[in-house]
Amino acid sequence: MKYISTRGDQSPKHFCDILLEGLAPDGGLYLPESYPHVDDATLSRWRAVYHQQGYAELAFEILSLYIDDIPADDLRALCAKTYTAEVFGTGEIVPLRHLENNLWLEALSNGPTLAFKDMAMQLLGNLFEYELARRREELNILGATSGDTGSAAEYAMRGKKGVRVFMTSPAGRMSPFQQAQMFSLMDDNIFNIAVDGVFDDCQDMVKAVSNDLGFKSRYKIGTVNSINWARLLAQVVYYFAGYFQATQTNLEKVSFTVPSGNFGNVCAGHVARMMGLPIARLVAATNENDVLDEFFKTGVYRVRASADTLETSSPSMDISKASNFERFIFDLLGRDGVRVKALFGDALARDGQFDLSQHPAFNDLRLRYGFDSGKSTHADRLACIKDNYLRHGMMIDTHTADGVKVALEHLQSGVPMIVLETALPIKFAQTIVEATGVLPDRPAKFVGIEDLPKKVTPMAADVAAIKAFITEKCA
Ligand SMILES: *Cc1c(COP(=O)(O)O)cnc(C)c1O
Repeated sequence: MKYISTRGDQSPKHFCDILLEGLAPDGGLYLPESYPHVDDATLSRWRAVYHQQGYAELAFEILSLYIDDIPADDLRALCAKTYTAEVFGTGEIVPLRHLENNLWLEALSNGPTLAFKDMAMQLLGNLFEYELARRREELNILGATSGDTGSAAEYAMRGKKGVRVFMTSPAGRMSPFQQAQMFSLMDDNIFNIAVDGVFDDCQDMVKAVSNDLGFKSRYKIGTVNSINWARLLAQVVYYFAGYFQATQTNLEKVSFTVPSGNFGNVCAGHVARMMGLPIARLVAATNENDVLDEFFKTGVYRVRASADTLETSSPSMDISKASNFERFIFDLLGRDGVRVKALFGDALARDGQFDLSQHPAFNDLRLRYGFDSGKSTHADRLACIKDNYLRHGMMIDTHTADGVKVALEHLQSGVPMIVLETALPIKFAQTIVEATGVLPDRPAKFVGIEDLPKKVTPMAADVAAIKAFITEKCA
């Protein structure tokens, strides 16, 4: 399998090249040249693999269709090392929980940082370590986080040979739990940097460093953001695992509702559907930052200024633009890279929006690609969390609640609806207490983490300062 750019770059690349590369040189995102089609016999075989041999082996089956530059035995070992009951809390890795009627929750948040990002990031850590050793190279991951991404990256890369993580975050803006999760890591290769500023200041510092091409290549600066194809690919696996748990035969269909921000998670569902997984609908759920819901309803994709991005109680979905969305639009427009470049490279930069409402593809969104969408507000979120707690005795986190609220509006009789759980409630305890009056459970390994010693470097929002810091730590 080779990979091409959504903006028309025609030089196909192998998986391990794009693993470490991030964006394509023409500014596009990488996608496979074509999606492997899974026939009925394969789907049946995979069903048995999942139930009899487990999630790691299913992951190997799916990944090996997309990765031809890692020997099969090595890839199998990497999957087995990643998806263990020890790391993910249960042998099933992604168990389905019943909510009501044909509504289910797929538990994706029992990894090291209690958010679904661990599902992909843990694999990425092992892939990076493997590939860097093979190339005898090093990588310094530089990132900006307001919470879940940074901690998932640090827990995936801690102790890994050849990798250092420099993670900036806005000082004092993350929840105490999130701060404790990150800052209590004492590993030699993890560096937390608390920036005197807001999230955008952190992101601007990261961009400025990455734009200094001399510094970037001298210090091997890389990223782990959600546009990395390997993260998306790892996420495809749990759509299959969810389907195999919710159905008995391949004649049945299921739908998924996905709490969405950068469109990475639901885009993995789109890939699974393109491979032939019998998915009826893919419902993207947004919070008050409804860039995606607006597009699916009107055909207008209108990115927001960062000053217009609202701070909500489902903060990991507070986005001004959806960085993975370009992948889906590439497929929607018949893989026309020139058109995608005109939209994402030119129109968005010039007008801050583009409009597909008059394009024939607009009808394909629903009819051909199965997409739908919905939106949730703070009041909806609170009501949904409370309702689930009172009626099912189940605490759900604020992002997952956005999903459940929207899923309830899209139920079809006879079609199981699976909501992807994106975090555990303890990460957003304040809102859970606001909704229910009860403090959510805390897994044993996180008891008392706020009292652990912290390793974090305070820093002004200054590009020279972070360059000096990286230089010093790499010496
Ligand atoms: C990252 C994140 C999301 C959004 O996922 P995307 O892949 O960016 O759409 C939703 N909920 C939680 C808890 C997250 O951490």
